[in-house]
Amino acid sequence: QAHSSLRVRVARLGTRYVLVLAQDLTDAIRLEEVRRDFVANISHELKTPIGAVTVLADAIEAARDDPEQVSRFARRLGKESERLARITREIIDLSRLQAGEALAERVLIEVDHIVAVAIDQNQVAAESRGIRLISRGDAGAEVYGDEPALVMAVQNLISNAIQHSPDHSHVGIGVSLREDAVEIAVTDQGVGIPEEERERVFERFYRGDPARSRNTGGTGLGLSIVKHVAQNHGGEVKVWSQLGRGSTFTMRLPRAEAAPQIEIGERTA
Ligand code: ADP
Repeated sequence: QAHSSLRVRVARLGTRYVLVLAQDLTDAIRLEEVRRDFVANISHELKTPIGAVTVLADAIEAARDDPEQVSRFARRLGKESERLARITREIIDLSRLQAGEALAERVLIEVDHIVAVAIDQNQVAAESRGIRLISRGDAGAEVYGDEPALVMAVQNLISNAIQHSPDHSHVGIGVSLREDAVEIAVTDQGVGIPEEERERVFERFYRGDPARSRNTGGTGLGLSIVKHVAQNHGGEVKVWSQLGRGSTFTMRLPRAEAAPQIEIGERTA
């Protein structure tokens, strides 16, 4: 899809005006850079757990006469392979979403259902830290979309909210009906995100300062996945945050009544 375009500009050179013609290859170059970065990031992300698995396998071998050591290393090996599985799964999800596959299976879905399933998937994690998941808002919104992808997106927002919240706090999941859109907002009372990071959190592999939160072992892909799910549905995702107070992530989707305007392959600005 990369294309180049011709740019024409009038520039002032001292007292004279000159016409500047520039062949704009930036789109093609940027796409290539993004692709290269993605591959480099993947390699980097996979290196650590793969290295650890190799080292731990050797360590188990070397410690075979010490059952306690063996089971300690085996547990760590299990953790590392879980992490490998998670990174791989998220990379595959993201590649699919970037290819626009989510639009292939659009069906009519109730937003309440998406929210209920996503809450359910986070209930154990929330309860283990005394965090209450509170859903409220308008009922009856419907969207056209890919149900598993939408559940994954909302689930990701709730899971992030829990991870960055103090114990015994509240996470709100609100649904608001707008004229032609529905907004799903996930609000936490957590650490917040500094202003200079707010745009970057949606980038692939971007992780905020680990000092701010407990070590979540995240991949930095979650919000990038959310952004692509929203975009594939003709929607968008935004963040409001106050450092030390909390954050709200809002996913805005076209309502089913308004959705037929969005054709497959087209993207609203
Ligand atoms: P991951 O959670 O796997 O690290 P994400 O893409 O989901 O990756 O998030 C990227 C970064 O955005 C996180 O590392 C964290 O710094 C920040 N972030 C995401 N959600 C929240 C939140 N609810 N509160 C504070 N920071 C958040």
